[in-house]
Amino acid sequence: MVSGHRTGIAGGWPGDGSVARSYEGGRRLAGVPEGDAVWLTARRLHTALAGRVLTRSDFRVPRFATADLSGQAVTETVSRGKHLLTRTDAGITVHTHLRMDGSWRVQPAAERASGGHRIRLILANDTWQAVGYLLGVVEILPTADEQRAVGHLGPDMLGPDWDQAEAERRLRADPARPIGEALLDQRNLAGVGNIFATEMLFLRGLSPWRPVGEVADLRALVELGQRLLDANKERDGIVTTGSQRRGERTWVYGRAGQPCRRCGTTIRKAEQGDPGEERVRAWCPHCQD
Ligand SMILES: [Zn+2]
Repeated sequence: MVSGHRTGIAGGWPGDGSVARSYEGGRRLAGVPEGDAVWLTARRLHTALAGRVLTRSDFRVPRFATADLSGQAVTETVSRGKHLLTRTDAGITVHTHLRMDGSWRVQPAAERASGGHRIRLILANDTWQAVGYLLGVVEILPTADEQRAVGHLGPDMLGPDWDQAEAERRLRADPARPIGEALLDQRNLAGVGNIFATEMLFLRGLSPWRPVGEVADLRALVELGQRLLDANKERDGIVTTGSQRRGERTWVYGRAGQPCRRCGTTIRKAEQGDPGEERVRAWCPHCQD
């Protein structure tokens, strides 16, 4: 599980001095991009696009195949949970979501983008082009209607308006629900994915199957999650143990069958979630109950 990786963005990008950074570096644990990766993607898109006029837009999704945003200036790209919103001065928002396999690559405008059949969207100015691959969502909507796309989300753990109390309130609203499931529901907390949820529960000694109503200190759990996301947002990869070494970055995520780092008990795994939304959960049966 830990040999692969997913990152919200690939290749070189402006602004962080690491244009040669490789997508194939194996730095992100396997899994769906989580809020930290989406936050970083937003920042990189913002750096490449904001304050510049689009010279080209290429929507390779049927519904918007004829859309053309050239001539509009991008004002900003922001993340809301795992959603990306790129806004223009014409009151237009391009809403994208990486879902399972999506990524963005930023490259010089003059270079040809590779992987043509995987491209879903290109936004370019005369310096940079942002190329979106296998995006799970691509849509255009009036900026005034963004709530339609992201209004269902709970408090954004990396947002400027992060609201800890509201997140707790939403979690508590369904006290019988297993905490492992509730943490992943983006209507409760926007930004947490399976890796963070799994690690948060280990660090707080909570079984993923414990009902929300029986979590003694929900506040501490949510605060921990926010701190973990925040600490990871600047890097390509998730580390919860403090060790950057490959194979040592998580406590239990991706470690089923291996000994617990704390007590040596074999880490277990099982699926959790509603049909069609099951995720593999890893936990230590000794450290978590
Ligand atoms: Zn243990």
